[in-house]
Amino acid sequence: MRISMVSEHASPLAALGGVDAGGQNVHVAALSTALARMGHHVTVYTRKDDAALPPRVAIQPRLDVVHVAAGPARHVPKDKLLPYMDRLAEGIAEDWGARPPDIVHAHFWMSGLAALDAARRSGGAGVPVVQTFHALGTVKRRHQGSDDTSPPQRRWLEPAVGRAADRIIATCSDEVFELKAMGIDTAKISIAPCGVDLDLFAGFGAAEPRPRNHRILSVGRLVPRKGVDLVIRALPLLREAGFDDVELLIVGGGGGAAALGADPEARRLSELAVELGVDHQVTLRGQVPREDMPGILRSADVVVCAPWYEPFGIVPLEAMACGVPVVAAAVGGLTDTVVDRATGLHVPPRDPAAIAVAVAEILSDPELRSELGRAGRQRARSRYSWDRVAAETEKAYRRALADGAVSRRMEPAEGAAL
Ligand code: UDP
Repeated sequence: MRISMVSEHASPLAALGGVDAGGQNVHVAALSTALARMGHHVTVYTRKDDAALPPRVAIQPRLDVVHVAAGPARHVPKDKLLPYMDRLAEGIAEDWGARPPDIVHAHFWMSGLAALDAARRSGGAGVPVVQTFHALGTVKRRHQGSDDTSPPQRRWLEPAVGRAADRIIATCSDEVFELKAMGIDTAKISIAPCGVDLDLFAGFGAAEPRPRNHRILSVGRLVPRKGVDLVIRALPLLREAGFDDVELLIVGGGGGAAALGADPEARRLSELAVELGVDHQVTLRGQVPREDMPGILRSADVVVCAPWYEPFGIVPLEAMACGVPVVAAAVGGLTDTVVDRATGLHVPPRDPAAIAVAVAEILSDPELRSELGRAGRQRARSRYSWDRVAAETEKAYRRALADGAVSRRMEPAEGAAL
């Protein structure tokens, strides 16, 4: 199959951990790589966000990234990218020329607009459009209220993308309910989760040394909704429970440790740690290259993921693949990936006391810790390899193609009946 991926803000080539660079970048890169390995020809279209980027980069056999000039050739926050989607669509259709792909797979709602527009511009029978939202505006608004910086048009354009796309890929079961509530026909929804790179994230291999007896780890973009402050708030409670030789390592944030002074969320977290008298226990590491992540994960007794909401969440999978138990807020994708009392412990969202109790349980019981880690590794290996995710995604493409063929066959007949 000839597949076009559209990922407007999340390039598979970007460094991870900044405000707008996280799971979607990993997802697009790994899924495209796995599909190319299966023999498909994949081109990823993303916005040219740096003047130095070449128009086309060949990543591996059958996999290219195309940087489309759409808006300024520098980083633009994703919530300000909507005005450039026309130009992105135009650039994609231009690159297709007379030979559009068999399928176009859009990631995030704005890429959906560009993909649908490019498919329309390419004329003919049209290219089936498959959509993965990664995050939904309805959920974001519910949790962030007036702090949501999405453009107002997202309210109507995102559901319109859902209705117009030929097939939707939800990454978890919770998302299916949200899509249904948006008025999207569940018959055209497939589920394919995100995966984890099992060659990189493994239970064996070096672990970085840790400065204290215990290490709790938090990994992710430093944005308030990731709930890192809740983990800091759990530290005094853990101390009261007798766990004082504990470090909380926080990985993520734009740039390395030196750049964190300029990161407002990093500042807020440091100030909170000082206020609670736990600053000597908290280390803010900043952005870490992907290759260093497994050694950091393996150095932890437990990884805590405490988001307010989470469309999928790759970090818990990476922790599980490395054999580390996860304390996870029971929200969104985390309720599919982390199995309570089997691969980690669920806690209610926004509840530092529950985090402290769950972490204390794991720290005080090495047998439980290794049992949860072992089951996590097994679950990650058996269900979340990118090859398996790519095979499920390919099935969704084939359904979109088959449905497209049916509707295309039906069109002339319907036209004749009018
Ligand atoms: N990540 C990284 N370096 C960092 C911070 C994060 O490589 O400094 C990676 C992390 O290992 C994971 C991804 O970024 O692969 C974050 O994905 P997740 O789905 O957990 O969160 P999102 O950013 O999509 O909300």
